[in-house]
Amino acid sequence: MATPTVESGIRGFRGELLRPGDPSYDDARRVFNGMVDRSPALIARCTGTDDVVAAVGHARDTGLPLAVHGGGHGVVGHAVCDGGLMLDLRPMNRVQVQVSDRSVRAEGGATWGQFDAATQEHGLAVTGGRVSSTGVGGLALGSGSGWLERTLGYTCDSLIGAQVVTAAGQVLEVGPEQEPDLFWALRGGGGNFGVVTRFDFRASPMGPVLLGGMVMHPHEAAVDVVRHYRDFMAQAPDEVNGAAAFISAPPEPFVPEPVRGRPVLGLVVVYAGDVAQGQEVLRPLLDHGSPIVTMVQPMPYTAIQQMLDLACPRGMRNWWTADFLRELPDDGIEAIAERTGRVPSPMTQVILAPGGGALARVPREATAFDLRDAPWNIHFLSMWPDPADDERNIAWTRELAASVKPYAAAGAYLNFLGDEGADRVRAAFGPDKYDRLVALKDRYDPDNLFCLNQNIAPSGR
Ligand code: FAD
Repeated sequence: MATPTVESGIRGFRGELLRPGDPSYDDARRVFNGMVDRSPALIARCTGTDDVVAAVGHARDTGLPLAVHGGGHGVVGHAVCDGGLMLDLRPMNRVQVQVSDRSVRAEGGATWGQFDAATQEHGLAVTGGRVSSTGVGGLALGSGSGWLERTLGYTCDSLIGAQVVTAAGQVLEVGPEQEPDLFWALRGGGGNFGVVTRFDFRASPMGPVLLGGMVMHPHEAAVDVVRHYRDFMAQAPDEVNGAAAFISAPPEPFVPEPVRGRPVLGLVVVYAGDVAQGQEVLRPLLDHGSPIVTMVQPMPYTAIQQMLDLACPRGMRNWWTADFLRELPDDGIEAIAERTGRVPSPMTQVILAPGGGALARVPREATAFDLRDAPWNIHFLSMWPDPADDERNIAWTRELAASVKPYAAAGAYLNFLGDEGADRVRAAFGPDKYDRLVALKDRYDPDNLFCLNQNIAPSGR
């Protein structure tokens, strides 16, 4: 039998195949991060599990590097490769809800916008990404942090099963009873173990209207506001979600003219419960200080989920990192405030997300995701439009991230990790979990076919 080649296509593949020069090739290979500019030899737009099996088999048999594209939001750009095969899951984006047992089946290429629209039709939700174009796939496999996390846990805490195509081309049904080790690994271990063609979640009743929004304070008040927020969150009930966001004020009419484009502190609040009760519980936060603008009101959960969409346009240059913090002392807040006061790009966001609540109640050994008890998670999300500003923005972000290292917990957060090397990936799991993941990698992907990700290499590689 002849060896399959890029030119001959993929045996048994029914979806669209794109090659360099095809009209939609360039659009299909672009990912969220505009710094990533790679050209695969072949883009395989999968329409179902059989296509995924065929594409995985093609990469295995030809030795082509294999990139798996979910939502394309991974900041390192693992969803696309040079000269290899990009397995594009985007056409597989159906989300089906079964109201009787609140189960949700999402195909591997669905986005959070699609997921939230389908589940909110029935007043249901799972903790989802804070920007609606992020893929369910990459986010859930890396654990999944979102506006409902203190109430419902990480996204992976609502996962009840999955269908996985392995490197060998097997189609496995995975859950607590079937392939339980693989099920454990999928909840935080990233895209290392196969292509997930279907995610099964147990959703929770939520909304459709929640109290949410943002209180915007002058940057000069950031230290005081964040200290107050830290103390408030130490006692806050599980329903209180949100973050302190060091951002720049958008150039919108609701922002007073002198503040537009200037650094500010945005307190994002989402109360995942009764609206009237939320107004009472959040009062100390809403009444504190002298905000520039208060935009907190009852709003559809789907609107809350799109609150940041405009602030995160596709195609900007992005350099990200993150850390869990074991404490947030005044000195740490001052360090963040000092540096965000001279942020080089008004698009950059530094997000301090509180832990606790449901996040911390899941037993640590239950999932591959590890760090459950950190009180804070800080995301450094630098974004800017012009390549000429790369060095300045990256240097600023590194300096800021270094300034909070003294308060960092041992570990790392896979979903916001940049290209930071094998030690940081290892640190995300701790030594025992990492060893267990390597053993599973040996079992499910011994040749590291799925290596374009935050990689857990098989032993001996
Ligand atoms: P992709 O780049 O397509 O995939 C990332 C990795 O996951 C790749 O290695 C890919 O191979 C693998 N993968 C994706 N889908 C599958 C699948 N079905 N089967 C197997 N492997 C798969 N993270 C949070 O936790 N919370 C947030 O609120 C959040 N907000 C974000 C907002 C923006 C604007 C961006 C750019 C990122 C955000 N992230 C957030 C980070 C995000 O979760 C990760 O970047 C995640 O990897 C993106 O998943 P994706 O499917 O969109 O990305």
